[in-house]
Amino acid sequence: MAALQSVAAKSAASYDVVVVGAGFAGMYMLHKLHVQGMTARVFEQGSGVGGTWYWNRYPGARCDVESMQYSYSFSDELQQDWNWSERYAPQPEILAYANHVADRFNLRSDIQFDTGVERAEFDERANIWSVTTSDGKTVTAKFVVLATGCLSNARKPDIKGLDAFKGKVYHTGHWPHEPVDFCGQRVAVIGTGSSGIQAVPVIAEQARQLTVFQRTANFSIPARNAALTEEERKWFRQNYPEVRRFAREEARAGIYTEMPDRGALDDGDNERRSKYEARWQRGGLTFMSVYNNLGIDQTANDTDADFVREKIAEIVKDPETAKLLQPNNHPIGSKRICIDTEYFAAFNRPNVTLVDIKSNPIEEITSNAVRAGGKDYEVDAIVLATGFDAMTGSVAKIDIRGRNGQTLNQKWAEGPKTYLGLMSAGFPNLFVITGPGSPSVLSNMIVSIEQHVDWIADCVVYMRDRGLETMEANKDAEDKWVAHVNEVAYTTLYPQANSWYMGANVPGKPRIFMPYIGGVGPYRQICNEVAAKGYEGFTMAGTERARAAS
Ligand SMILES: Cc1cc2nc3c(=O)[nH]c(=O)nc-3n(C[C@H](O)[C@H](O)[C@H](O)COP(=O)(O)OP(=O)(O)OC[C@H]3O[C@@H](n4cnc5c(N)ncnc54)[C@H](O)[C@@H]3O)c2cc1C
Repeated sequence: MAALQSVAAKSAASYDVVVVGAGFAGMYMLHKLHVQGMTARVFEQGSGVGGTWYWNRYPGARCDVESMQYSYSFSDELQQDWNWSERYAPQPEILAYANHVADRFNLRSDIQFDTGVERAEFDERANIWSVTTSDGKTVTAKFVVLATGCLSNARKPDIKGLDAFKGKVYHTGHWPHEPVDFCGQRVAVIGTGSSGIQAVPVIAEQARQLTVFQRTANFSIPARNAALTEEERKWFRQNYPEVRRFAREEARAGIYTEMPDRGALDDGDNERRSKYEARWQRGGLTFMSVYNNLGIDQTANDTDADFVREKIAEIVKDPETAKLLQPNNHPIGSKRICIDTEYFAAFNRPNVTLVDIKSNPIEEITSNAVRAGGKDYEVDAIVLATGFDAMTGSVAKIDIRGRNGQTLNQKWAEGPKTYLGLMSAGFPNLFVITGPGSPSVLSNMIVSIEQHVDWIADCVVYMRDRGLETMEANKDAEDKWVAHVNEVAYTTLYPQANSWYMGANVPGKPRIFMPYIGGVGPYRQICNEVAAKGYEGFTMAGTERARAAS
């Protein structure tokens, strides 16, 4: 405690912890630090809290994990009080929730908005991080927590002529705050991942003409979104202890759902089909949990993928368009499954056209058109639904220097290396929330965020109570973990897809399967065991003193 206090006392610009980012991760981290009596400063480059839900204001934006589960569990009063209106809340409601949490837990006074963190450098003599922000100021902190988000660095594609386009260009991940009205306009949507799939049906209702440019067809399942009834809310509120326990400890993806005990090939064709049909009718992300081997057995996976391809062919009237919309280059589930509301049906509208840019690549953007396959598609506005430099993009933008002046970008040049997805060797007292090497984007992320924040907060308190100065991942523990993450990934079908999990959407990015696919329950157990063994695999300076004290 004394060590931390002495740091904080030196000047007003010194903190126990600097947190980068005020999305759900940074907000909960700050709350935990408040509870532990630590001094903390959060820097957020946006003008408000909410992260993902602050930036992604595009038409149709909503969560794809059901709101009764895509919400904090750390406060029972909060989860009992908050009224989600729909099965999947729309972006404005999730943003309102984030703002409510900021007010309810008095977070704002310790968050500095409109301030990006540009550099963080570890001083090995003083065991202190110096953090430099976009306003030119530097603060110091004992610990730095990167709550920078896995999907927060919007990726603008490198298309010739894009800057010369005379109309408006929007990115779904960086949407304007004022309403955008596409009425009467000719609009291009480039990209058909999760954001494009949510935006297309909504923009189609407004635009005079919508042209959708698709490189890869993606699997999408109907959301079956609807208003939540009071009975549904009541059921969750009464059953939260078990729902949350299951999501944390047993579920693979942090979602309360059945755990199938059969494989897809254990059932006959009719039985299997009727199970897929029931899930299709129910809608939502748990479509993949009909059977226990869809993610690991190609033949089993094919039965599921075929079912969805048939559904697309049933919905989309024009056979050629239907064929283009049927995914055929990756196993179902090996890229994040999308959840949609009338996405495929949108292509039956007379004002919606699909352009296959795999066979007819976009050559350039002119002052008034997207040129693909030698043809000009004249448009008034372009919506880039081109995703993110996922998992590492926002971290890489910060100049982070650890021991011996090594930068994190140098260390991660061949792909991210972490121990447990929480720390990287050579960078003491620097934590990442939902970093590469943890279940992260393969899960209900609020479950993973809460687990990481709790673990980090416990760890910092452990150090404070023992007068420990530094904590650092050991290189051998890190190497073993990286190998384990890789090994587990290659027992599944996931690496077969050119997905953003693999860094495949960013030219030049190393192809490494970044998240840990072992499941949130088993992963939590590993993290807890590591902590219970006195943070096995980490070196804490002053360990001998700590051992003597305990
Ligand atoms: C459209 C969309 C829908 C999604 N739906 C779901 C869903 O249904 N279920 C689910 O589990 N997950 C979903 N996700 C993933 C989502 O990102 C997480 O659920 C969660 O919101 C992440 O919270 P976070 O705080 O870790 O990161 P973010 O919400 O991304 O917040 C990170 C914050 O850090 C800030 N930041 C980054 N770098 C810096 C810097 N250098 N200096 C200062 N500030 C910085 C950013 O501005 C941002 O505000 C979705 C993502 C998107 C894009």
